[in-house]
Amino acid sequence: MQAENLSTASGEPPSGNSLPNLKTFRSAGRGYWHDVADADWNDWRWQLKHRITTVEQLQKFLPTLTPEEYAGAKLANTKLALAITPYFFNLINPADENCPIRLQVIPKLAETHTASWEMSDPCGEDSHSPVPGLVHRYPDRVLFLVTDRCAAYCRYCTRSRLVSNATGYDFHPEFDKQIAYIAAHPEIRDVLLSGGDPLLLSDEKLENLLSRLRAIPHVEFLRIGSRIPTFLPQRITPELCAMLKQFHPLFLSIHSNHPRELTTEVRAALGRLADAGIPLGNQTVLLKHVNDDADVMKAHLQKLLMCRVKPYYIYQCDLIAGSAHLRASVRTGLAIMEKLRGHTTGYAVPTYVIDAPGGGGKVPVSPEYVLSRNADRVVIRNFEGKIFEYPEAADGSPLSQPPNEIVAPELV
Ligand code: SF4
Repeated sequence: MQAENLSTASGEPPSGNSLPNLKTFRSAGRGYWHDVADADWNDWRWQLKHRITTVEQLQKFLPTLTPEEYAGAKLANTKLALAITPYFFNLINPADENCPIRLQVIPKLAETHTASWEMSDPCGEDSHSPVPGLVHRYPDRVLFLVTDRCAAYCRYCTRSRLVSNATGYDFHPEFDKQIAYIAAHPEIRDVLLSGGDPLLLSDEKLENLLSRLRAIPHVEFLRIGSRIPTFLPQRITPELCAMLKQFHPLFLSIHSNHPRELTTEVRAALGRLADAGIPLGNQTVLLKHVNDDADVMKAHLQKLLMCRVKPYYIYQCDLIAGSAHLRASVRTGLAIMEKLRGHTTGYAVPTYVIDAPGGGGKVPVSPEYVLSRNADRVVIRNFEGKIFEYPEAADGSPLSQPPNEIVAPELV
């Protein structure tokens, strides 16, 4: 595999969106931080301490900041804070206002426009929360919110009501109460740690929390949801991996949206997690001008497999307040799925879901492959649009005689 430095001689990353270019693994490089010692640059705490968090820093590091971005950054601290790690910032192409990395983390004034159907809690989490920081919406599993902090903030974040505390939500998880609730509910067999980003906790705090959860006999399965591997791959230290591997079965769902996020640094970090025996899945949010293109999405999903990550979900972007400028349509999502299934490795094809607005849970949506169900057959089409029949009676039993000749229905 190729590995190049993303920064060119001029200090700007390339903007090419050709497929071979998207599939190439590159380093994020050092950009403005070329004088920083390796030991600092590779230290996750240094990265956190030197995050870009103000409009003045943005102006300094990104001279092409647009008026729309300037205004958005000025207002960010009233909605969802601005924070970008130096590492991730280096992936931004300053020459491209529509750079898919830039769109995800640099605020825009459009975030302050809220439609009447948009919500601050589109998944209805607060109404399914028996104790602070715990969401119990599905019968056998819970969402355990660990922190309201992230390494960087995604402008479309479903939990922007609480992460970064910009709106004064004042999130205070109470681990004792959260753990006591799980211990008292034997139907809970699966705990997903999320936030905010659980991997922002120190190794010691995370180990303590995982130990307490693992000690509950009916908890079969632990999961962590984290954007850290893509925002801050330096955090995935050998020590962290050695600690996590004590708690198997432990799965980790990463979050990445565009093939350029999958750098040599991210690939190495994911390799360390995979070597620790941690099964890795990826969650992608379908975003306008970021990944609402079948070729870009396919390159991303294939590149994930090269990083030992199984693409798990593509999420329709939730109706979070102020996200209309980033939301791609369901029609676009379906058209992308149509170009994935059958056209690439099945392992690369995630489930496309809409989190039903208001708290209905994840609903899978897919192009239609069953064209009709008749008295003696099910009529299906394949990824090429060719029609086939599967003979069976309407009640699902095997046929006792051959079905009548098929009359090909029109493709939908
Ligand atoms: S990392 Fe996750 S929780 Fe944090 S801002 Fe992004 S989407 Fe929201």
